Amino acid sequence: MDKFTALKQYFGHDSFRPGQQALVEGLLAGRDVLGVLPTGGGKSVCYQLPALLLEGTTLVISPLISLMEDQVAALEQMGIPAACLNSALGAGQMARIAANARAGQYRLLYIAPERLAYPGFQALAADLRVPVVAVDEAHCISQWGQDFRPGYLASADFIASLPVRPAVAAFTATATAQVQADIVRLLQLQDPVRVITGFDRPNLYFDVLRPKNKLNTLRALVGQRQDKSGIVYCATRANVEKVCAALQADGIPATRYHAGLPDAERRRNQDDFQFDRKTVMVATNAFGMGIDKSNVAFVIHYNMPQSLEAYYQEAGRAGRDGTPAECILLFAPADIATARFFIENGGENSALTPEERQTVRRQDYRRLDAMVAYCRATRCLRGVILDYFGQPHAEQCGNCGPCKAEYSRQDVTVPAQMVLSCAARIRQKLGYPVGETLLVGTLAGGHDRRIRELGLDGLSTYGLMKTIRRGEIRRLVEYLEEQGCLTRDTHGAIQLAGRAGEVLFHGEKLTMPLRAGEEPVLSRRKKTRAAQDVPGQPEDDSLLAALKAERMRLAQAENVPAYVVFSNAALADMAARRPASLQEFLQVNGVGAVKASRYGKAFLRVIARWNAEHGQAEPPA
Ligand code: ADP
Ligand code: ZN
Repeated sequence: MDKFTALKQYFGHDSFRPGQQALVEGLLAGRDVLGVLPTGGGKSVCYQLPALLLEGTTLVISPLISLMEDQVAALEQMGIPAACLNSALGAGQMARIAANARAGQYRLLYIAPERLAYPGFQALAADLRVPVVAVDEAHCISQWGQDFRPGYLASADFIASLPVRPAVAAFTATATAQVQADIVRLLQLQDPVRVITGFDRPNLYFDVLRPKNKLNTLRALVGQRQDKSGIVYCATRANVEKVCAALQADGIPATRYHAGLPDAERRRNQDDFQFDRKTVMVATNAFGMGIDKSNVAFVIHYNMPQSLEAYYQEAGRAGRDGTPAECILLFAPADIATARFFIENGGENSALTPEERQTVRRQDYRRLDAMVAYCRATRCLRGVILDYFGQPHAEQCGNCGPCKAEYSRQDVTVPAQMVLSCAARIRQKLGYPVGETLLVGTLAGGHDRRIRELGLDGLSTYGLMKTIRRGEIRRLVEYLEEQGCLTRDTHGAIQLAGRAGEVLFHGEKLTMPLRAGEEPVLSRRKKTRAAQDVPGQPEDDSLLAALKAERMRLAQAENVPAYVVFSNAALADMAARRPASLQEFLQVNGVGAVKASRYGKAFLRVIARWNAEHGQAEPPA
């Protein structure tokens, strides 16, 4: 069988995605490969397809048990025999799998890195014919990566211990050159075929909101997406608890995940989410590496992550099946302090020397700066991300908040004059300028001790903006800085700059851009954000809903997650084509031969019934 036939027959895909073909061909030719593809880019096919076509058993080193089990379940659904060896198995199961493996029954065998060092496993591996060792999430081998796992370092020794050196395939979604170099060096890849595909995920919509009240905004956002599956990421366990409870109180089927929960509960909650018994998962970043649920329609960040890499990886768990999905970040300046705290107090990695630790921390701060710049960006957000990963792109993507937003302008001349004259008065009184906190505090009429000590409460501009929230005054200060009316020295002290005189004395007007749906600065009106449009076309509800119900029924009967039966993309294509025969059913994207024979009849029956009820005998052209 050739690779194109196998792609269609087993995986149900009509063509390779960017990068897949070169990686598959490399492995078929016995070469080492390094595949850098974004999350959801389709890394599994790159080693699963060669595993089908090459003689012997491909070994896959994979970081998480849940991930392995899902992959094995998905492979079995496609008619590809596979198994995984992990610490959750009993001795009996382990022996049975080993015997099957020796009998050559598996095309793929998944293993946790910890197992590589077991003599029993090494003996088994030596008995197998191993064409390829695939290392999934290979960045875990690098201490510069996000998720360093010392166990991964055993991979190279293990590979070297095999009687015949297999082709080695490394896959990651982490793009930085340093991590890539580490992977090549530590896994001892020999002249690998390197494929680094584009990082763009066009089906993802990106947006950053700066809500006054995050919890209320989040509840509204989730409420507008009731029937969809989504993840809400929070920075702390306490936030996870708070947010999850609030959503549950709203009647949202939400569950939670963080490192403070007992193993059994974590496992159960994750299953509830994977199996669509609960539609929303509220979690810390502990949740995710093992998640390849393909029908996640939104990822909302309740707090800003520490780096754009982490953000893109977490947000990238949305829309893996290629259908439109949303990635929304709720930003507040306090998130920066939280991120700094985590960098300063983050898990000290005992494998690092003090100098290395210093370097890591410096890099962490650089990553944080990029993350903050993303949150504050007023230009195309996809552009900001792709710039960071060094990829060229169009100026406007048309599918992110700033690209879609309509801007209006708000006249802020009068409040700007208040800010400027207050800064001038303070300078006059004290003989030196003060920082943002004191300036804003004075305008807001604050009772802070410093204000009283310095006598700023005696100024005529004291309390001039007392009906305005401090956060809004800050936004105005930032805007005035951007406009060249204020400058900030290296100590953070704020003074009038060139253009201030024009605004104060010569009647120059200042108008601040305002995004539609965003509350004007300096107004106390309650926020009424219009219901957000979900990107993409409206779906053919009734048929798609019927297909989804059928999928749920089958999934429950077989005790597998729904997306293992068919992805949302496959169901959408099915609804569009409305196949009437098994032959036509095979044309649906994501339907391979095994799945067609297993599920075809059931879905065809649903479609036929729907056609009859809607008086539509013919599928659309
Ligand atoms: P990741 O790179 O994150 O490991 P996966 O291997 O889980 O990504 O694939 C993500 C999704 O893309 C899956 O739903 C898979 O079915 C789909 N996919 C992979 N390859 C193709 C292809 N050639 N055509 C269409 N869909 C594909
Ligand atoms: Zn854009």
